[in-house]
Amino acid sequence: MAITDVTVFGAGIFGMSVAYACLKRGANVTLCDPNGPGTGASGGLVGALAPHVPELWNNKKQFQLESLLMAQEFWDDIEQASGLPSGYKRSGRLQPLASARLVELAHERTVKAVDLWQGKADWRVLDENPHPGWGPASPTGFWVYDTLSARMSPRMAGPALAAAFQARGGKITTTAPEKGVCVWATGIAGLIKMSKVFSHEVGNGVKGQSALLGHDARDLPQVFSDGVHIIPHADGNVAVGSTSERYYDDPNTTDQQLEDVLERAYEICPALRTAPVLERWAGLRPRASTRSPMLGAWPNRAGHFIANGGFKIGFGMAPKVGEVMADLVLENRDTIPEGFRVEDNL
Ligand SMILES: Cc1cc2nc3c(=O)[nH]c(=O)nc-3n(C[C@H](O)[C@H](O)[C@H](O)COP(=O)(O)OP(=O)(O)OC[C@H]3O[C@@H](n4cnc5c(N)ncnc54)[C@H](O)[C@@H]3O)c2cc1C
Repeated sequence: MAITDVTVFGAGIFGMSVAYACLKRGANVTLCDPNGPGTGASGGLVGALAPHVPELWNNKKQFQLESLLMAQEFWDDIEQASGLPSGYKRSGRLQPLASARLVELAHERTVKAVDLWQGKADWRVLDENPHPGWGPASPTGFWVYDTLSARMSPRMAGPALAAAFQARGGKITTTAPEKGVCVWATGIAGLIKMSKVFSHEVGNGVKGQSALLGHDARDLPQVFSDGVHIIPHADGNVAVGSTSERYYDDPNTTDQQLEDVLERAYEICPALRTAPVLERWAGLRPRASTRSPMLGAWPNRAGHFIANGGFKIGFGMAPKVGEVMADLVLENRDTIPEGFRVEDNL
């Protein structure tokens, strides 16, 4: 079989995952990013790989489930090929249940998860915090602990993925001609460009601010409470996020809104209050107008493809995005679910 030349533009988590999947299937792949790998949204701090609730099932939830279930093998392979840690661990997630209604709903979801998560993970209702001292307190005395949630550290996983790609023979450049098949995984810049090309807003950026604290909780589950993600990383730091801002003055600066998120995090996990803040970070999430990933062929532009719209769950979706894009680009097999297509955003 002839070797296909693939050029992937954009070395965020989507571009790198597509490039890596194509490379593993035998293509000759160049990954091009003028700013270098992991410099867009994928260079952030948080890295929660957390599922949607197991109910009202749809394509998005099924796709995300499959991607989350692929993640262990995906990151193991990358660690092996690169010799670098990704920080991946399926360490679970703890959420306090704030009302009697939520406790009731959580019990219903326990039953639904058995079927929807195919026995591969559970949604457990606990009447005791298994990690007292790691918060969060629960007003009802009940918590949900799910065994599907995982974490990865963007600052470890991105370099590991770039190194694995190169170790397997992929090329990373800052400029490249549009050679062979071209995949555009250019995040927010791509959404802006496509909005011009299609004379219609196909998506926009949603700003997020987050912080990294020096506190070693690496073996503990992530916490989600009061809209705040608290993610213990493998390197002995804890990420806290995030704001969600449709309107902003500067996409890359942090402000009082992040301090408010931090204050909520301290209330949820008091152990964090004395931890040093090592970094404050802000960036734009690439949000397609459907809020779902935007994947597929570029309309009326033969040989060009789009992988964008990771929005708030790009890291969790990336393993599966890489595979469905490789199916399409290299094998002309369309395995992209409805609702995730480029046309859905036009
Ligand atoms: C604060 C915050 C917290 C988040 N938390 C999580 C989380 O916990 N879990 C999760 O799953 N997701 C999270 N996300 C979302 C996640 O970061 C994104 O969905 C994901 O990083 C998007 O990846 P991407 O590769 O599409 O885009 P990006 O990472 O933005 O990459 C796009 C790349 O394209 C490059 N580029 C632009 N133009 C060109 C061009 N013409 N040619 C070549 N390259 C170009 C850019 O330099 C950039 O490197 C968070 C996002 C934010 C902002």
